[in-house]
Amino acid sequence: MNNSYFYLEPYAYIDCDDEKAIVYDTLSGQSLCLALSDKHLYAFVNELKNSLSKSVIFDKTFPDSVVCFVKQCRDLFMGDIWEGPQPFIAPFKPKYMNTVDVLKKNEDLVYKVIGMVSHLVIMQEGKKQDKNIVGIENPINQFLFPLCNFGGKIELSLFCGQMSKIYFDKLKTVSILGDFEDGLLQSIYKDYPGVDYCFYYQFEQFDTEWFLLHTNYIKRKHVLIWVNPQVQPIMINETKEKLRHNGVPCSFLSAVCNENDLMNVADGVVSVPFYNKTNIGLFKKNVFLTERDILSQKITEEDILNNMMINSNFFGELYFMPDNRVYANPNTDSLGCFGDDWHDILYNLLDSCWFKTRDMKPCSNCAFQYLCPPPSNYEIVIGKPNLCTVKS
Ligand code: SF4
Repeated sequence: MNNSYFYLEPYAYIDCDDEKAIVYDTLSGQSLCLALSDKHLYAFVNELKNSLSKSVIFDKTFPDSVVCFVKQCRDLFMGDIWEGPQPFIAPFKPKYMNTVDVLKKNEDLVYKVIGMVSHLVIMQEGKKQDKNIVGIENPINQFLFPLCNFGGKIELSLFCGQMSKIYFDKLKTVSILGDFEDGLLQSIYKDYPGVDYCFYYQFEQFDTEWFLLHTNYIKRKHVLIWVNPQVQPIMINETKEKLRHNGVPCSFLSAVCNENDLMNVADGVVSVPFYNKTNIGLFKKNVFLTERDILSQKITEEDILNNMMINSNFFGELYFMPDNRVYANPNTDSLGCFGDDWHDILYNLLDSCWFKTRDMKPCSNCAFQYLCPPPSNYEIVIGKPNLCTVKS
């Protein structure tokens, strides 16, 4: 006997927690967000969410809350009713749920992981300063920032030897933090001439003439310069003009710790919040996500699947630090040292933050779990798994 079914369209994603349900249209970005205060609606939505065919039996005599939910989904073209055998709509599920475990057993592990590396971050020690010019401690734990007085320097021969044993065929970007040695840059460029090169400096360390002279052979380059509020806009503009005149795009960034810093950031300079253990208020106001922030982003099916499997903030990044160690992220343990077997370093990546998803409470019991961007460095540094106003 044929039944009547309610089904969700292939592009509609559903999730819920104990209090709330969300149906999200990955094509239009529209969403339906509703409270699950009614037990019939709670049961219906959970059945739909857990259905392997994204369809459940529906009858017009069901309680009003369910009928109203179905009508709202139909009005938004996120679902419809079907009379006949149960329809099958493939749910949003990554094809390979156990990628990490499968990879670990894979004999071609090295080649598979090499193909995931897209961004190399190379930290060179900056010119000697008493402290980082912007006066903040450990900025590298929160964003890409050229350190001073790191206490070491990448050994060129070790670095070149290590890099000569591997080729990252999907590499897109090389970021160099601080002054670089010509030999180091040339050795990377020889192997990767077609990728983007990003150079990070603190304003007071940046010598435009020196930089232009020593990077003249690099075609695709971008300079990112950290400035503090004391730097006069006229000086920023001078540097900007010189770089632009030479065809080098540039951006200026400023680390802000409080509202006063925010107000003093010069026009055209991007403010980047810095957590200093006393300014969680700044983050609550400017960084914490609201329900509206999350739903106002355009989230594709691919984003949702990525959020189930990997951390797109960290995935593909490898850090080479002046202590001759390799990291997936400066906030996590080292993967190994220059000179170690690449197989071991890449194997360690499989247990790294590359795969850190929102699988801890309260995110693991939140209807936004896979709609939310993955955890960032801020969450690690602040020590809070969710920087949002949705759940405390
Ligand atoms: S950060 Fe976590 S708790 Fe907050 S909305 Fe996102 S998934 Fe939910």
